[in-house]
Amino acid sequence: MKQSIKNAIEVQNVTKVYGVGENSVTALKDANLTINDNEFFTLLGPSGCGKTTLLRLIAGFEDITKGDLKLFGKEIVNLPPNKRPINTVFQHYALFPHLNVFENVAFGLRRLGKNRSEIEQKTNYVLKLVQMEEFSKRRPNQLSGGQQQRVALARALAPEPKVLLLDEPLSALDLKLRQAMRIELKTLQRETGITFVFVTHDQEEALTMSDRIAVISEGEIQQIGEPNSIYENPANQFVANFIGEANLLKGICKKIGKNGLCKLNSGHEISLEIPSLIKVNDPITIFIRPERIKINKSSSSKIKSFISQFTYLGNAAHLEVESNNQKINITLPIDKVKNFKNADEVTLEFPKNHARVINQ
Ligand code: ATP
Repeated sequence: MKQSIKNAIEVQNVTKVYGVGENSVTALKDANLTINDNEFFTLLGPSGCGKTTLLRLIAGFEDITKGDLKLFGKEIVNLPPNKRPINTVFQHYALFPHLNVFENVAFGLRRLGKNRSEIEQKTNYVLKLVQMEEFSKRRPNQLSGGQQQRVALARALAPEPKVLLLDEPLSALDLKLRQAMRIELKTLQRETGITFVFVTHDQEEALTMSDRIAVISEGEIQQIGEPNSIYENPANQFVANFIGEANLLKGICKKIGKNGLCKLNSGHEISLEIPSLIKVNDPITIFIRPERIKINKSSSSKIKSFISQFTYLGNAAHLEVESNNQKINITLPIDKVKNFKNADEVTLEFPKNHARVINQ
């Protein structure tokens, strides 16, 4: 039988204002979202957009200014942090330096008054989950950054929270380790079935790990969706630019409807669906990903286009092509990289169904 999806967290019309009067800051404006049980949910946005604020409201470290918060269907606004079945892993995870790995993880369980055998069993279980059981006797200063982060994770998982909040937990690690930890975190979430709410400003991190993502800008949720749907159908120009690389090309609407047509300032014509609230000859902005545009070498095209910048990336190349002063970004797959160089004259093709009209 198919299990019904339970709501782990409901954020309803939540506003958070810090301070009062002239110096007040609205960190979150009328936020609404529902996070499912067992979900890996990511809050993604640039520095200062309000994602940590939302996490701290869920944890109970900050008071809500307006709105409601529910955890598994129950109001939690008036519940103190230690009464919420939630744990948090911070970017700076501050392990106790004088305690070994085992004792660091067991610490929370001792405070909860668990008996010895339960403490031993749970601590060993989570240390095994994060592959740190061999290091249980070491002190934090005898561990690498990645190992310390795993201990911090084990410590947060040991009391078996229903929800784990993670505030940029990988950002202090170097790139290789960060990439490895992404996979480990995702596996850990799947194995434990705990709802993870993960905060990051790193779009790649969000795309690789999340079941769903909420993109936030200036305290407002811009879009909520699965990574693929946000990447393919960004709700607006902010999301298009923040996630991956995007072309936002200006043009004029030539035909509306399912088989609509736009003439770009470059002179190229793109077939795409154009909603009927747009009128013929209206200026519009088109969104298309750089890897969707097809490029060929040719000097015979009516629309003069040339490579104004060629950047070799190892596994691909990034090109900037100029046509009638409009710059168009293109990603070339590895097998085509050697066919092109700076200043080459080229023709471009915009395959149907990969471009969208996009709002400001
Ligand atoms: P970062 O990625 O840099 O941590 P963020 O997206 O997590 O940023 P928040 O920390 O939630 O952003 O901050 C949102 C806004 O609220 C910012 O303008 C910030 O300066 C402000 N802010 C956060 N905490 C406080 C506070 N305690 N008092 C006043 N303003 C605050």
